[in-house]
Amino acid sequence: MAFLDIQSLDKRFGGVKAADSVTLSLKQGSLTALVGPNGCGKSTLFNLITGALKPDNGHIRFDDEEITALPSHEIARRGIGRKFQVPAVFPDLTVFENLTVPTLQKGRFFSRPGNSEKRMDILKTIRLREKQNELASTLSHGEKQWLEMGMILAQSPSLILLDEPTAGMTAAETAETAHLIRTINKGEGVTLLVIEHDIGFIEQLACPVNVMARGKILKSGTFQSIRNDLEVQELYFGRPEGPHA
Ligand code: ADP
Ligand code: MG
Repeated sequence: MAFLDIQSLDKRFGGVKAADSVTLSLKQGSLTALVGPNGCGKSTLFNLITGALKPDNGHIRFDDEEITALPSHEIARRGIGRKFQVPAVFPDLTVFENLTVPTLQKGRFFSRPGNSEKRMDILKTIRLREKQNELASTLSHGEKQWLEMGMILAQSPSLILLDEPTAGMTAAETAETAHLIRTINKGEGVTLLVIEHDIGFIEQLACPVNVMARGKILKSGTFQSIRNDLEVQELYFGRPEGPHA
C-alpha cells in the first residue's frame, strides 16, 4: 500500500500543461528523486501535493486518506513538510531558537515545536550542535539550508518534500546534504521526495529516480538506468552523450 499515492494528476496554466496525467506512488520510509529540466513541472507537483495549488483532475492520497481537496494547512497537519529552494530561516534568532519557532504558513500556525531533547537530536542530525548559540545570520548558505531542514524536522513530518535542497551549495556542502538526507530517511524513517537539477547529487542520493518532462513522468528507475537512457539524455540534457550538470 502506497504512503503517498498520486493518480492521473492534471494541472494546466493557460496553454501549459504543468502536470499531465502524473501518477506516482511512494512507499512509507522510501527515498525518491524527481529530476527534469527547468519548467517541466516539478515544483508544480509539490504545490499540488501540499495543497498550494489544486489539480484540474486526479487524486492524491496520503496515509490512506484522500487529501486532494484539503486546504494546505490541513495537509501540513497530516504530516507533509516542504522545503522551498530559498532557505527561510530567522536570521536574528540563534540556531537553537530557530528550531523552536513553529512554521507560520498563510497566517496560521500548523504545528507545535518539539521538546528540548528532540531539538538537540535534530541539531546533531543537521550537524549544527556546535553552532546552536550562534545567530542564523552568521551561518553559511549550506548551513542555513540544513537549519531549515531541521526546522521542518521539528514539525515531525512523516513525508518531507525537498525542492532543490542543494541550490547554491558548494560541492562539499552538496555531498554533506546527500548524507544528511540519507540519515533523515534511514535514521528517522521519514519518507522523502527530493526534486533536484544537479545529477551528481542524485547519484549520491543512490535512490530510485523519476524523470519529468513537459508535465509528464517520462521514466522511472535506478540512477544508472536513467543515466544510460538515450531518451532521457536527449530530453533532459539536450544531447545523447551523458549528463554533466
Ligand atoms: P520546475 O519546478 O520543474 O522548474 P514549475 O513547476 O515551476 O517547473 O513550472 C512548470 C510550468 O508551469 C512552467 O511553464 C511554469 O511557467 C508554469 N507555472 C508554474 N506555476 C505557475 C503559476 N502559478 N501560474 C502560471 N504558470 C505557472
Ligand atoms: Mg522548480
